[in-house]
Amino acid sequence: MNEFDIIARFFQRDVSSAEDVTLGIGDDAAVVRVPEGQELVLAMDTLVEAVHFPMNTAAEDIGWKALAVNLSDLAAMGAVPRWFTLSLTLPEVDEQWLENFSSGIFELASQYDAILIGGDLCRGPLAVTVQAHGLVAAGQAVMRSGARAGDLVYVSGTLGDAGYALTAMAKAADKEYFLRRLNRPQPRVAVGQALRGLASSAIDISDGLAGDLQHILDASRCGARIDVDKLPVSPALAQVTDSAEACRMALTAGDDYELCFTVAASRAAEVNKMAAETGVPLTVIGEIVPETTLKWLTPAGELTGYRAFEHFSGH
Ligand code: ADP
Ligand code: MG
Repeated sequence: MNEFDIIARFFQRDVSSAEDVTLGIGDDAAVVRVPEGQELVLAMDTLVEAVHFPMNTAAEDIGWKALAVNLSDLAAMGAVPRWFTLSLTLPEVDEQWLENFSSGIFELASQYDAILIGGDLCRGPLAVTVQAHGLVAAGQAVMRSGARAGDLVYVSGTLGDAGYALTAMAKAADKEYFLRRLNRPQPRVAVGQALRGLASSAIDISDGLAGDLQHILDASRCGARIDVDKLPVSPALAQVTDSAEACRMALTAGDDYELCFTVAASRAAEVNKMAAETGVPLTVIGEIVPETTLKWLTPAGELTGYRAFEHFSGH
């Protein structure tokens, strides 16, 4: 199979019904229509084998996750996913692998009517780059910089499961559950959209809450007091770890793809209503304070020394 056969067979779908795609796959570039009054929101993330996913990860899961991590970034901006492009670097042409990869990526794409409009294909060590394109009403994107003293700090879902799947898989009693949380993150798209006009700031948690919350605090020039006992941990993780280990996973392990956001305390009822409407648990874990320090508080005192996963920090 040559490059064009691969694209035609595995990636080209009929997009003629999409009115906002003037030109999809097949020309030198795609052409799309951004509706009047909307802004384009762009996010790009790369997954590299053995860095972002283990060597033996199923192709369907790689496909799903490559798009999921990008939709998670759009969610954190309050954007509606519309289109995406895909750059695929493959060591060889394995038709079964391509079939499975494309079924994984399109499975998630179809959940949000996100349309693949182009990409690139080349030979080399396995790596997948997706750029997701979303829309948001002009001026409505939710940024990291709007948190204010007194705001409540929330996280969606539960934290630490994906990290547990990566680091302690062997002794996991509920292996299927943890692997699913690692390989099939569900981007919080509906929650993200509901945050427009409600949250003062938001970020998606890709590198662990400790580091990602710090990004909100840096951008907003404030601090936070977090009640460690309130961190939402799944029953499965609570079952297989003690609370110190669960906490370490939640704060530093990464790969959760939940949202962390801040909301004025006076609007907490609206968040509860939204949690009920979206079916996603939203938990208050603390509050924003004016002094620029981040404190992790437990009944026994303050925790220190937590750091997020960083690619270039050498650990
Ligand atoms: P060029 O040589 O101009 O870079 P390509 O041969 O790379 O063009 O791509 C031809 C067409 O196929 C383009 O429309 C491009 O966006 C699309 N395409 C290439 N690779 C992919 C892919 N992995 N997924 C989807 N579309 C792709
Ligand atoms: Mg090209």
